[in-house]
Amino acid sequence: MTNRKVCIVGVGKIAHDQHVPAIDKSPDWELAATVSRAGSVEGIPIFRDFDVMLEERPDIEMVSLCMPPMARYQYARKALLAGRHVMMEKPPGQTLAEVQALVGMAKEKGVALFATWHSRMGKGVAGAKAALAGKEVTRGQITWKEDVRQWHPGQEWVFEPGGMGVFDPGINALSILTEILPEPVHVTRAELDFPEGRYTAIAARIEFSRGVSMDLDWLQKGDPSWDIEVETAEGTRVVLKFGGNELWVDGEKMPGAEIEEYPALYARMAELVDQRAIDVDLSPMTHVADAMTLGKRLTVEPFSF
Ligand code: NAP
Repeated sequence: MTNRKVCIVGVGKIAHDQHVPAIDKSPDWELAATVSRAGSVEGIPIFRDFDVMLEERPDIEMVSLCMPPMARYQYARKALLAGRHVMMEKPPGQTLAEVQALVGMAKEKGVALFATWHSRMGKGVAGAKAALAGKEVTRGQITWKEDVRQWHPGQEWVFEPGGMGVFDPGINALSILTEILPEPVHVTRAELDFPEGRYTAIAARIEFSRGVSMDLDWLQKGDPSWDIEVETAEGTRVVLKFGGNELWVDGEKMPGAEIEEYPALYARMAELVDQRAIDVDLSPMTHVADAMTLGKRLTVEPFSF
């Protein structure tokens, strides 16, 4: 069977780092075109205008939206209305309501829509969920610290409205938390550090129900810390390290899934397309919105790249 054709829209860091290699290895997909204002992928046709691509390439059945969240809605809407399946980088949009509107459009057109959370495909995440199933969470600690200059070099959009600031990586942790916990939690308190003159936070401390706390910092030097620990009333202790890719249960290192995060996302998208199904879970983004609604805003040192 020939592979299904996909077009990447927004050829930046994540498209080059993850999407292009994942599609190259995929048994389901073939990269048939890109839409890019300035970039390119060697050997792949480029369109500078999204409308032209939709018009001229009816053979491309899926678009993979890899731009920052602020522009996602306008591209997703056009693609859905043109009857294309849509896969979206995280976070799926800049507001909850605009993503809900996309779900309505996908239902109406009978096409697949996937709001991806790549960290949920971390190799230890399914095992962590299984280890916690049916148990009562009594404590949790999320530590998500990295260097914004390393992971978002020069990307001013992360400090623009809708860019989410430190929640851009923090939402990855929340996508894991909302996947593995047997019962949902909710934000009860938050403090957000905004660099003077910037629109989004660079650090945050958040408390949730069931004793879960989260510490986010975008100024950590050296190796990132992407760790989640959860304890239960039954005495189980689950530790996820390296962004969900290494699992320890009660002090023992557990085997993980074979498949890497982005290949797993493209495999899942192929299933969704087969079923014309929608996979959009907004619970990680709901926690971010709640932290912004409830959080005390503190002003800290100015930041520049
Ligand atoms: P990026 O390199 O700054 O931007 C990606 C590309 O999006 C740009 O190169 C540009 O592509 C396009 N773009 C930028 N602004 C746009 C706009 N206003 N309208 C239309 N297109 C626009 O960002 P990134 O790091 O790849 O991140 C993109 C998304 O992936 C974000 O949602 C981020 O959370 C997610 N993500 C990033 C990472 C990471 O390590 N950076 C990891 C996982 C997920 P063209 O020049 O081709 O038009």
